[in-house]
Amino acid sequence: MGMNELVWKKRTREEIEKFSDSYKQFIDYAKTERLAIQYFEKLLREDGYVHIDKYTGKEKKVFYVNRGKSLIAVNGDISNGINFVSAHVDAPRIDLRPYPFYEDSGIALAKTHYYGGVKKYQWFSLPLALVGVLVKESGEKIDVCIGCNDNEPVLILPDLLPHLDKEDKKVSEHFKADKMNVVLGSIPLDGEEKEPVKKYILKILKDKYSIDEEDFISADLELVPALKPRDVGIDSSFIGAYGHDDRICAYQGVKALLNAQPNAKAVGVILFDREEIGSEGDSGAQARFYRAFLRKLLLVNGHSDTESALDELISKSTMLSADVTTLFDPSFSEVHDKLNVAKAGYGVALVKYTGRGGKGGASEAHAELVGKVRKVLNKNGISWQVSLLGKVDVGGGGTVAKFLAQEGFDTIDLGPGLMSMHAPFELVSKADLYETYLAFKVLMEEL
Ligand code: MN
Ligand code: MN
Repeated sequence: MGMNELVWKKRTREEIEKFSDSYKQFIDYAKTERLAIQYFEKLLREDGYVHIDKYTGKEKKVFYVNRGKSLIAVNGDISNGINFVSAHVDAPRIDLRPYPFYEDSGIALAKTHYYGGVKKYQWFSLPLALVGVLVKESGEKIDVCIGCNDNEPVLILPDLLPHLDKEDKKVSEHFKADKMNVVLGSIPLDGEEKEPVKKYILKILKDKYSIDEEDFISADLELVPALKPRDVGIDSSFIGAYGHDDRICAYQGVKALLNAQPNAKAVGVILFDREEIGSEGDSGAQARFYRAFLRKLLLVNGHSDTESALDELISKSTMLSADVTTLFDPSFSEVHDKLNVAKAGYGVALVKYTGRGGKGGASEAHAELVGKVRKVLNKNGISWQVSLLGKVDVGGGGTVAKFLAQEGFDTIDLGPGLMSMHAPFELVSKADLYETYLAFKVLMEEL
């Protein structure tokens, strides 16, 4: 069995730490969705996965990367369907606006635009790194990661001193998006009268990275916390890092894929971008790239690739919508339903439904699928628990699940609990990190 069983009592510290160490390496590298996808593509290729364009039907392992921001990979014979883990690789952050630079009273600054559900105040007075790509007119891509190494400067959104700012204002009134301007510098360029500080910053960017001001218009640039993943707690039982939501499930899913043996069904992973803003666009869960990939798989394997053949493949498949849930936090117990919230160290959390209010906008797993999942987890001695996002009528949220369920996948939400979700430094229990990976592996193999 495995419901509400403490992971620390059944796994060795050694195996938990081993998995945690490899995860910390990944989460330190994967500062953006592009970097996460790059990391996974490398792992897949090393394991013998071939790109769909080179796939002949003889290879068992095949993958496709969509615009460098989303990915699908499948291993095995798809005739009986595919057991998928899906996760998202985007995370809340602060983007640069396309025309960001200005100068005011001897300080050069850049305008930003927050991405996803952030509590704005958490991003002030925090060391930030500028990470992403700029594309020149020639098509040449320039990767930047300013503030990623200890010997480089970081960037910051300064907050006001307490002397001039009593804490009695509502935070939402105080921390406005138009105050989120990142400080770039304060030294003027010799011989310049107009905006000399901004010009000196642009000169450094030109000299060091060959970037012109106009290049920022064709760029995907993100300000992310310049923080290393760290063990947290006197007993080092947690990992603190930026981007656990939801790169942790992407990592657990890909690791499970690499180690799972496909049985009756094939096994697979789909990683999406844009979940934090509603799964929009051509790289999110509402996009069509994975359907096009599955159609090609059908065709190359000698099946029909009609709409109805694709519908049939999807209807035989299962979607483990892998995303983080809230972890019970004793200091904020009032928002949780104590019976229905993940607790640290008790393993993967099954989230039967998401949504808000009277289950509005919810994806809800059918009882039949929850029954099957429960059986496989118990049979394999995996620790699992139930979780929902808060008490009834206290907030809520969603995942990619509803978009995949709409397509016809039998879908369930599950994943590890996090404390401080969406904060610049989120917490996960190492035990839940490892146990969720084990859960994904057995579910891929046995559902
Ligand atoms: Mn998420
Ligand atoms: Mn999220």
